[in-house]
Amino acid sequence: MAQHQVNYASAGGLPVALTTVDKLLNWGRANSLWPMTYGLACCAIEMMATGASRFDFDRMGVIFRASPRQSDVLILAGTLSKKHAEFARRLYDQMPDPKWVISMGSCANTGGMFNTYATVQGVDRIVPVDIYLPGCAPRPETLQYAVMMLQKKINRQSGNMNNNPKQRFV
Ligand code: SF4
Repeated sequence: MAQHQVNYASAGGLPVALTTVDKLLNWGRANSLWPMTYGLACCAIEMMATGASRFDFDRMGVIFRASPRQSDVLILAGTLSKKHAEFARRLYDQMPDPKWVISMGSCANTGGMFNTYATVQGVDRIVPVDIYLPGCAPRPETLQYAVMMLQKKINRQSGNMNNNPKQRFV
């Protein structure tokens, strides 16, 4: 008898995993988040550091893409000016569903210290935000934590995105 042969009866049963389609879809979505390469201000430097070798976003399945059409996460990192808001919204619209948004840093969350006529006072006025990441600037570890929170959120979602309330926001 070959030495590698496994006796499943004595090893606790057959290697069969049972799950639902929802869980399978969410597992795939949560572990292959591809953010768009898109930064607005100084917070974007921390986002770039997160993708570099020291913090290594790739090991979480997070790989930056240079096109909205290949991305499913929009990380709005930094100050969003009103002049630029239209383009941020257009990029979001060009991303395929399902898609998620992380607001990174105080400026993106609320306008931060820039309470001026030129700054959007929170990117949630432009796009629906899933995760708010506080700080000025948030460190790369916190962006990784935000992605982990987003993964948890995705795992709780229904696989049928037609039930997603974000669809009604747009
Ligand atoms: S939150 Fe701070 S680090 Fe981030 S864009 Fe605003 S001023 Fe820059």
